[in-house]
Amino acid sequence: MTTVTPTGRGMARILTAATLIPLASMCPLLTDAQRDGRACPWCDVSVTAETGIDLGERTLHRAAAIIHPVACQSCTSREALDAYVTHHRTCVKGTAAGLGDT
Ligand SMILES: [Zn+2]
Repeated sequence: MTTVTPTGRGMARILTAATLIPLASMCPLLTDAQRDGRACPWCDVSVTAETGIDLGERTLHRAAAIIHPVACQSCTSREALDAYVTHHRTCVKGTAAGLGDT
């Protein structure tokens, strides 16, 4: 998993690639177990910190809540690939830099 450690004053936050997988559209539908990291947010299988992939703490501004989902490895792989493909299709920076479709 890619780890990005921002540098500079006051930036102690560590991000992993899994924290970049979008969840916003499904947050209103998540159960308490899915919000608390006890069940995968996509397939609802039981997960733990040891068996699942930490998706990172996320703030739901509209609900004024913080969730910390943990997903199963299978769903994380599928959703990460989907996010990558979607980003590749829509990223303006990659196209402008010649990194888009050839
Ligand atoms: Zn799953």
